[in-house]
Amino acid sequence: MRTPVLAANWKMNKTRAEAREFMVALLEGLPDNGTEVVICPPYTALTATVGAAEGSRVTVAAQNMHQAESGAFTGEVSAQMLRDLGVRGVVLGHSERRQHFGETDEALAEKVPAALAAGLQPILCVGEDEAQRDGDETADVLTQQIDTDLASVPEDELAKVVIAYEPIWAIGTGRTATPEQAQEAVALIRVRLSGRSTEMAEQVRILYGGSVKPGNAADLMAQPDVDGALVGGAALDPADFLAIVGAAGQ
Ligand code: PEP
Repeated sequence: MRTPVLAANWKMNKTRAEAREFMVALLEGLPDNGTEVVICPPYTALTATVGAAEGSRVTVAAQNMHQAESGAFTGEVSAQMLRDLGVRGVVLGHSERRQHFGETDEALAEKVPAALAAGLQPILCVGEDEAQRDGDETADVLTQQIDTDLASVPEDELAKVVIAYEPIWAIGTGRTATPEQAQEAVALIRVRLSGRSTEMAEQVRILYGGSVKPGNAADLMAQPDVDGALVGGAALDPADFLAIVGAAGQ
C-alpha cells in the first residue's frame, strides 16, 4: 500500500500572515485519514509555515532549489539552506519553471540527487503540453523526462522520489485530465520505472496535478496508480484543500 500524498503548491501567493492563517484552518480541519500532507509556500513564507506546522503531521516543501551546495549563484538557494529552515521537501521541474525560467532536464538530473543527498524529498513534475498530446507524443515526452531527470538517482533511493504527472494543458486552465487519461499516463511512468526495479516502481508515489478541485479529486485519486494530487489554485483556500485531502482517504 502506498501512502497518498496531497501537496499544495501556493506558487507566488501568500504573505507570512496569510500562510499562518491558512495553516490554522488546515490543522483545525485536517482529517486523520492516513495521508501525507505537504505545503509548498514561496521562499518568503517557508519559515512561517514550518513554524505553524510544528507538532503536526503536515510537512513543508519549497518550490525550487539550486543543485549546488553553495557558491556564486545570485538569487538561488540550496538544499542545505532549505534543510536549515526545517523544510523537508522540494518541488522540482514544475512546468512553470520549465516554461518561464529555462529549467532543463539536464539541471533536474543534478537537482533530484542533490535534494536526496541533503535529505529533502523531491516532488518531480513531468508532463506534456497540448501540442505534444495532440501529436501523440505524450509517452515519448514522459519517458524522456523520467529517464533524464532520474538518471543519476541510485536505485535504492528512487522510492524516496515523489513524481507528479502534470499535463501542462491542465494546469491552471480549469481543464482536467479525465481519470482515465491520468491513470494511463501515471501507469506509463510506473512501467518505465519498473525497467529499473519492479519492487521500487511499486513503492514510488505518483501524483496527478492539473486543475484538481474538490469536485473531481475523488475520481482522479480512485485510479489504481494515482497516489494523490499536486494542487495549485484549489490549494489556496483551506476549505477546498481540506476537501481534496478528505477525498484521498475515501
Ligand atoms: C500546479 O501548480 O502544479 C497545478 C496543478 O495547478 P492547478 O491545480 O491550479 O492546475
